[in-house]
Amino acid sequence: MSADSHVTAMTPIFPGSVDAAGQQATLGVVGGGQLGRMFVHAAQRLGYFTAVLEPDAQSPAGLVSHHHIQTGYDDPAGLAQLAQLCQAITTEFENVPAQALQTLAQTRPVAPDAAVVGIAQNRIEEKAHFTACADLSGVSCAPYAVIETPVQLQAIQDDRADLLPGILKTARLGYDGKGQVRVRTAAELATAWAELGSVACVLEKMLPLTAECSVLVARGWDGRVVSFAPQRNVHVDGILAVTHAYEENMPPALAIRARDAAVSIAQQLDYVGVLCVEFFVVEDGSEHGGLVVNEMAPRPHNSGHYTLDACDASQFDLQVYAMAGLPLPQPRQHSPAIMLNLLGDVWFDASGQLQEPDWRSVLSLPGTHLHLYGKLQARAGRKMGHLTITGPDVARVKTVARRAATLLSLPGLDAI
Ligand code: ATP
Ligand code: MG
Repeated sequence: MSADSHVTAMTPIFPGSVDAAGQQATLGVVGGGQLGRMFVHAAQRLGYFTAVLEPDAQSPAGLVSHHHIQTGYDDPAGLAQLAQLCQAITTEFENVPAQALQTLAQTRPVAPDAAVVGIAQNRIEEKAHFTACADLSGVSCAPYAVIETPVQLQAIQDDRADLLPGILKTARLGYDGKGQVRVRTAAELATAWAELGSVACVLEKMLPLTAECSVLVARGWDGRVVSFAPQRNVHVDGILAVTHAYEENMPPALAIRARDAAVSIAQQLDYVGVLCVEFFVVEDGSEHGGLVVNEMAPRPHNSGHYTLDACDASQFDLQVYAMAGLPLPQPRQHSPAIMLNLLGDVWFDASGQLQEPDWRSVLSLPGTHLHLYGKLQARAGRKMGHLTITGPDVARVKTVARRAATLLSLPGLDAI
């Protein structure tokens, strides 16, 4: 970790302040996707100016920011301009070059730290961290083995047949189920590894999941930690489809364990910013005591979007507070909520023709909050927006969520 990550007495950057050179307090983000857009909205609501570094001219965040630096993420001139414009910098997507964050950290506070982002970008390092944390966090990851060489591949067949059936996952650049192959036998494993280009991978034992959940944690420069209660997530085809965010969404004892584990993992990383930790809930009686840590995202997460409408501070507010060194509030959820992801598929009818989704009917339902990310082209599987449903009680939230999912032909209806 760079020395800068241990700045514990960071001078707060107050919104609306103007420095000696007449420059407005400005917060920067590397990456221009929807997470960056919602970060920009949160920062601007507080009164900050914003800057986005993103090569795409039409990016969701670039389109709404005061400044848009349109260069590659590792372009030296672009990074210099971002550092010059901003008093603090964060990132919004996982695969931002860690080197770029390191460069920025030489002159500006950067949260999260480049080294931590580097760990989260590599499943091998990520799992090593979870394993090292296990004593304090109380959770371990699924049994796994690293496969980087043909010898390690052979060793699975010889010594680790217990990992089959399993999931082979590339160490880097996987998201939304991409870069993953399910394998039943050693022969299938060998074929899958070759198909993935024989790159560094981990083979994970396939676990009998009963549910999945995630926890959002925010930690400040001073080490103060706040967190949201775990949300339960339903994936369809490897992509998040539905998030259930209310008290009865999972057994209370498990929820406490997940939350404590996520806080512990953030603390052991000396993390600054918003961190999302994903967990598997496995069948009772297994060796894992019901809870297994899957992976972490060093940023706000799709599963935390409900916080925008159901909590008094959202995950993006906390990202702003944390990076700017403002007092970190413990967020309070004021309404039960269900979030439905809106993929590009919603913009096509059964025959593949483009259609405008029936927003009139959806928005007529009580407690619906529509968020579209300003992406100009809908494509199947592309995250275009999300719909959060809030209400006075869980039953009513579920009823409206089911109606909205039916109107929009969303997947995961049976999981609501
Ligand atoms: P994300 O979009 O969250 O970054 P990802 O592509 O990085 O996803 P994972 O979270 O590792 O991938 O896995 C995607 C999904 O596949 C999980 O949410 C879970 O449903 C399933 N899965 C992954 N690993 C296992 C496992 N070991 N046992 C059973 N199911 C698994
Ligand atoms: Mg995942």
